[in-house]
This record gives sequence, structure tokens and C-alpha cells, in this order.
Amino acid sequence: MENISRRSFVNKFGLGVGASIVVTSLPSFMTMTEEEKPYTGKKLNIALCGLGNYASMLADGIVASQYCNLAGIITGTPSKAEKWKKQYNLPEKNIYNYQNFDEIKKNKDIDLVYVVVPNGLHKDFVIRSAKAGKHVITEKPMAVTVKDCEEMIKACNDNKVQLAIGYRLHYEPTHLEIKRLGQQKVFGQVRFIDAGLGYKTYDTLDKTTIVDKNDRNEWRLNKKLSGGGPLMDLGIYCIQASRYVLGEEPIAVTAQFGTVNDKIRFSETEESITWQMEFPSGAVANCSTSCGFNIDRFYAAADEGSFELSPALSYGPFKGKTSEKELQFPVINQQKAQLDGICQLILENKPLPNHITGEEGLKDIKVINAIYKAAETGKKIVIS
Ligand code: NAD
Repeated sequence: MENISRRSFVNKFGLGVGASIVVTSLPSFMTMTEEEKPYTGKKLNIALCGLGNYASMLADGIVASQYCNLAGIITGTPSKAEKWKKQYNLPEKNIYNYQNFDEIKKNKDIDLVYVVVPNGLHKDFVIRSAKAGKHVITEKPMAVTVKDCEEMIKACNDNKVQLAIGYRLHYEPTHLEIKRLGQQKVFGQVRFIDAGLGYKTYDTLDKTTIVDKNDRNEWRLNKKLSGGGPLMDLGIYCIQASRYVLGEEPIAVTAQFGTVNDKIRFSETEESITWQMEFPSGAVANCSTSCGFNIDRFYAAADEGSFELSPALSYGPFKGKTSEKELQFPVINQQKAQLDGICQLILENKPLPNHITGEEGLKDIKVINAIYKAAETGKKIVIS
């Protein structure tokens, strides 16, 4: 859903990755000298687990990266194994299916497994990877329950491997800038955030078609595999941005489910949800996500000014301004930046920063749980 709908959203609004952006300033980690200096040391060898839409984008990011190689795959579909083997010149011994995956433990040519399967399956593959002694990156949302997140963190700690969550925007320059503007109080204390990410996902489909939620392509509508609707898939970006702009954790939430226009598809998971998060400073974030309408924006009102992005939370390119000037940063390959950021640290045997680890993923799942509880009960839910 995320990929397909993002594509249609981008097409609809006429934005392409080739859109020209004038670069006026670069964050310090992307200075030209650093960018130009090629890395020639050992690369981290990655096996991608699950070869769906987002795995293809990650593969492009790996190919473009300095610090990792696509060395293997784990897939349940033999035809995909064949296709990827040829496309990426993968040796047969680095190709696994879901049954023989645990044998990867003996394979010294794989350092890290990147889990890109439906949300409800993240836990199982992360724990199997950790037990095989491999570092792991798992896609967002980290898992579907707090307990699952805790078990994943424990398995990685017990097996002394690092666990990262695929938060691509943590490495994106426009987002690093709004994080700086908020946390360093460049416009004073942020008091109010308005954020939304949603896609009118099924507008081209016949709404009378019976949808089989056990169909592999419909896993996002299947509560067991998805853990929920657009809140799990897209709304998580609003939670993330609010948290990293404020540098605070929400203490209480209220929430409201939206109208269900497509009752066939959204019988297990929400079609839309709006929620409000209260932060210790008194700041409030009002957020929305949907599969029924398009929205991609972030706005922060602070004591002495404001800053905003739209598009804000998708694959971009992002466009934004502060109350003083335009925000202009280069359009980057978000997956490459994320992979390089994570893999460089793992290669140097350094711990990953807190904002990218399993602890960070767990925090989001606690907030998401509270939002669902608030929408179900109509009550304000305090997050402990
Ligand atoms: P997808 O449906 O395109 O791919 C899912 C893959 O999992 C497929 O290869 C499928 O064969 C495999 N799979 C294994 N067991 C399955 C089962 N029981 N049912 C269904 N599929 C099964 O989905 P996707 O868009 O690639 O999403 C995969 C993960 O990546 C999700 O966790 C999603 O949230 C995340 N994602 C992240 C981003 C991002 O920007 N960080 C973008 C898109 C998706």
C-alpha cells in the first residue's frame, strides 16, 4: 500500500524525484568532502528477507550505498529467488527460503538480515536472525505488540547483535533540519504540531469486489499480519516527526476513528484515524492518517515563528519553509542514506544511536497502542 499509493500520489501531484531543488546549505554530516571521499574498506553483507515492493527500493539503496552489499535473499517464492539471483548476481548458497532460513547461521558471508515482510511477521524473522548471530534491521512498525518488541530486543541483546528499525527519515536532511529547529528551539518552544500522512489507496479499484484478506497482496487489511490500518503503516511517521521535533515523549493521547467509506476492505482495520498527543512541555500534536484521503504535511507553531513541510513524510521530494525562509535541501536516496548510516556504525563495532534502535521502535508501538485504546474507548489514555 505504502509504495503503490505513494507512487500514485506522486503521479497525481506531478512531483518526481528529478524535481530540481536549489541547495543553499547542507547538514554537517553531508559536507561535499565527505560525500566525495569513496569508502574502500570492508562492506557489510546484507540478506533481504521478503522481496516485496519496499525490498526493491531497499535493494536500490544497497546498490547505491558505500557501506553494504546485497549478498543474499530470503524468500518464500522460488520465482523471485531466480529473478533476484540473476539481477543481483547472488551465489546460490546465499539464497534461503522461510524453511531453511535458520541455516544462515553457518553462512559467514552474511552479516545482517534486513526484514521487510508484513508487520506481524517481523518478530519471528528478527528473533531467528538474532539466534543465527546476524545483526538485524527490521522495517517499521517494529512489530504489532509491545510484548513482541520486548522479545525482539531481548533476543538481539542475548545474541549480542545490533537491532535497528528502518526509520529512513532519520537520515534525511530536511527532517534533520526540522528536528534541529524544534529541539534547539530556533523559533522558541514548539506549542502545536499538525501532521498527516494518508493516501486514497483504493480509488481505482471496484469497491464491490470481495476482498480476500488472506490473499498475500492484501496483508495490510488483515489485522493479524498488519496489526492495524494506516496508523501502523503511515501514521507512525506523524508520531515519529512529532517526537523528534519536540525531543519529548507523549504522555497522553485522545483519538477518533474516521468514517468507514469502504466497508468491504476496512472491516478489520481502520480506514482513517485522527489523534492528539500531549507532551510534557504542554505541546500538543494533532495528527491524521487515512487510506481514504490524501494528506502529506507537517506544521509546527512555536513561540517566535513556525516551520512546515508539504510533502512532508512520504518519499518526497520535500518542500517546506520556516516563518523566515524556504527550506531547501538536496533530494537524496533515503534508503541509501539510512543504510550507510547504520552499516558504517556496525562495521566500526559502535552501538547504534538510541533513535534508530529497537527501543525507539518499542516507544512508537506503545504510543500506537494508546491511540487505538483511546479511539476504542473514547477516553484520554495516559501513556506510562
Ligand atoms: P509487500 O506486500 O510489497 O511485500 C511483503 C513481502 O513479504 C512479499 O515479498 C511477500 O511475499 C512476503 N511475505 C512473506 N510472508 C507473507 C505473508 N504471510 N503474507 C503476505 N506477504 C508475505 O509489502 P511492503 O510494502 O514491501 O512492506 C513490507 C514491510 O516494509 C512492512 O513492514 C512495511 O511497513 C514496510 N515498509 C516500509 C517503508 C518505508 O518507507 N520504510 C515503505 C514500505 C513498506
